Amino acid sequence: MAIIVQKFGGTSVADAEKIRRAAERVIKAVKNGFQVVVVASARGKQTDELIADALELNPNPPRREMDQLLSTGEQQTVSLFAMALDAAGYDAISFTGGQIRMITDGDYTRARIKSIDAQRIHKQLDKGRIVIVAGFQGIDEDENITTLGRGGSDTTAVALATSLGAEQCEIYTDVDGIHTTDPRLYKNAAKMDHISYDEMLELASLGAGVVYTRAVEFAKKYDIKIHVRSSIGEKEGTIITHEVPQMEGVVVSGATVQKDMAKIGLVNVDNKPGNAAKTFAHLAKAKVVISDIVQTEVSAEKANLSFTIGISDLPAAKQAVEQIKDEVNCESIFIRDDIAEISVVGVGMRTHYGVADKMFSALAEAQVNIDSITTSEIRISCIVDKDQAEKALGAVCDAFELDKPAQERAKNN
Ligand code: ADP
Ligand code: ASP
Ligand code: MG
Repeated sequence: MAIIVQKFGGTSVADAEKIRRAAERVIKAVKNGFQVVVVASARGKQTDELIADALELNPNPPRREMDQLLSTGEQQTVSLFAMALDAAGYDAISFTGGQIRMITDGDYTRARIKSIDAQRIHKQLDKGRIVIVAGFQGIDEDENITTLGRGGSDTTAVALATSLGAEQCEIYTDVDGIHTTDPRLYKNAAKMDHISYDEMLELASLGAGVVYTRAVEFAKKYDIKIHVRSSIGEKEGTIITHEVPQMEGVVVSGATVQKDMAKIGLVNVDNKPGNAAKTFAHLAKAKVVISDIVQTEVSAEKANLSFTIGISDLPAAKQAVEQIKDEVNCESIFIRDDIAEISVVGVGMRTHYGVADKMFSALAEAQVNIDSITTSEIRISCIVDKDQAEKALGAVCDAFELDKPAQERAKNN
């Protein structure tokens, strides 16, 4: 029998009525002949509330205790979900991450999955049961509870789909699929029918929170198709898959804005071999995740080095650069915590010119100043002032006609 993994995000299980509705969807899959594995998130804003509870008692809570606490949100949902299915006359059993031996490394609050005991789940499925697994959590080798990072239930779903050999992995959420940009920020954003893993990876890592980056990485690596769709109604959503040829016809497939960022600059460091290596080795030791790095030569003797990070890593990054400052002979350090990053993404950029020009012109017309620019083969990102972020996103979306469906935009190229 084919297996399907259905993941329900926080808004899709926010209250009893929504859990009941999600359960109906699961039952439908059972009636269609699937063995169903459900992955559920914490209800509504519960994870945010638990974080607030922790911070009220301790501004810098031990990360192990944070994971111990946050994992309880998902644990509540899965048992409630099983009860809803039982009430509807279906045999269901819920598991925590630990109970299915979802083994991770010990990096609390952003642990990585190492292995899963698929046999335990298969055994239950073969008894005719629906299996409901708590998303976002695992245990390390010493049985400590770990979590996979905010949005990590998506990763649980894709990892389970991989290890169970599932035919489909569906992610049910509060939007009807992946849009060209966040529809909450640009209300006319067009829905996409397909998107490639690479584009989705770029969009997700640049702030499109609709699917978690690591889940897409996993899906790409193990060739799992993800179907992102609304938990309300029957409409097809968006399939995340390998590149299909017509995708190249669309130059820009999406845009993102990332507001929770900071930038650190080291001004006039000695321009000699090893200084960048020393700086970033220090930052790595402090477990700071770096987004973009820009180094420019000021003279034969001096260079400027700057990088962007998530704002939650700022205290650790600040401490790390203070420690390395003298060693690289840096004149001064500047820090900006009032920035946002606007990006456009598209595999078609590989074969089309004029994208940078269009983006910068749109920002200029909107009177948005660009602080710095970084690019990859399939994206262009600009750092702008945070208070201009939404205006900048709107201008860029208008310029690339991101309110129109991809087929229409491809024709216009
Ligand atoms: P869930 O609780 O189901 O995991 P999330 O809040 O994590 O839901 O993700 C869904 C939200 O992602 C949407 O409500 C939307 O505002 C946001 N989002 C950001 N970028 C995009 C995008 N490009 N397409 C669709 N939704 C997006
Ligand atoms: N509950 C966790 C969060 O809010 C994980 C998830 O929903 O995917 O981030
Ligand atoms: Mg999510």
